[in-house]
Amino acid sequence: MKAAVVTEFHKPLEIKQMPIPTPGPEDVLVKMMVTGVCHTDLHAVHGDWPVKPQLPRIPGHEGIGEVVALGNNVKNLKLGDIVGIPWLHTACGYCEYCITGRETLCESQQNSGYSVDGSFGEYALMDARYTIVVPSEVDPIVAAPLFCAGVTTYKALKVSGVKPGEWVSIVGVGGLGHVAIQYAKAMGMKVIGVVPPNDPSGKLAKECGADLVYDGPGDQAGEWIKERTQGGVQGVIVTAVAKAPFSQALKSIKRGGKVVPVGLPPESMEISIFDTVLNGHEIAGSIVGTRKDLIETLDFARNGQIKPVITVKKLEEINEIFDDMLAGKINGRVVIDYRD
Ligand SMILES: [Zn+2]
Ligand SMILES: [Zn+2]
Repeated sequence: MKAAVVTEFHKPLEIKQMPIPTPGPEDVLVKMMVTGVCHTDLHAVHGDWPVKPQLPRIPGHEGIGEVVALGNNVKNLKLGDIVGIPWLHTACGYCEYCITGRETLCESQQNSGYSVDGSFGEYALMDARYTIVVPSEVDPIVAAPLFCAGVTTYKALKVSGVKPGEWVSIVGVGGLGHVAIQYAKAMGMKVIGVVPPNDPSGKLAKECGADLVYDGPGDQAGEWIKERTQGGVQGVIVTAVAKAPFSQALKSIKRGGKVVPVGLPPESMEISIFDTVLNGHEIAGSIVGTRKDLIETLDFARNGQIKPVITVKKLEEINEIFDDMLAGKINGRVVIDYRD
């Protein structure tokens, strides 16, 4: 099969022939139709994080494809099912986190495109017990970004605790942020999109339904937001991959408000202990979502409420896609289409 493979960190991916994997007893073999390209794939390619993937590795964790072979123990799926390849490839199923509905915190989890091969190949394995079927009403191209960008932001909005009618701000309106705005609106929230000064993503934020967009100087976002929202937003979802917006996010929330970081800049953030205590502020990290979150995420897309902005490309263009991603040139999400 053809695949885009990381053979060395910080080097371009190689398009090469790899063996089609054989399903183990709990696996399904998925013939890929499409896959989204996420910023996290770039971290895998660069070996940015303390725990690095073993090479060679096929990245990708927004794959959609057809089940074409089943392991001996698989009972919940059948040949021909259209399913997704999310970040959470598998978890142990019996640790403290798994048995309390927090499988994304499992310390024995495997991650698609990182610790196991992912969706940048024509075929990939997926643990059937962690596999979610794509509803027939949802186009695979629309479904692909929902398996990471969608579920990550939908879950973060749930974690934020913002209720219908309350204000939330979405910091960074790229692959994750633009979908976050659509989910926040679908969940009945009032939404502020926060983008870099005069950035084109401000237009995308409006198109996705943001009630207000801030594209002024980065160090004044908090104050601007407080002035327009009766003392601050109830929650902030920070999808930005830079440090500065995190401190502005803390400045923009009202008393009792919550900041939910989902972007992964490598730096630390500064937090005023005094303000946190006096204002009852909360900071809660949120990482992708569980199988249940994913089912809910896809449900929203059945009736057309969620429409990711997508540019369709081919697998051979993967290195240019990453170049564009680093240069901030991607509007919404890129989806690779394997079909002719
Ligand atoms: Zn991702
Ligand atoms: Zn576990």
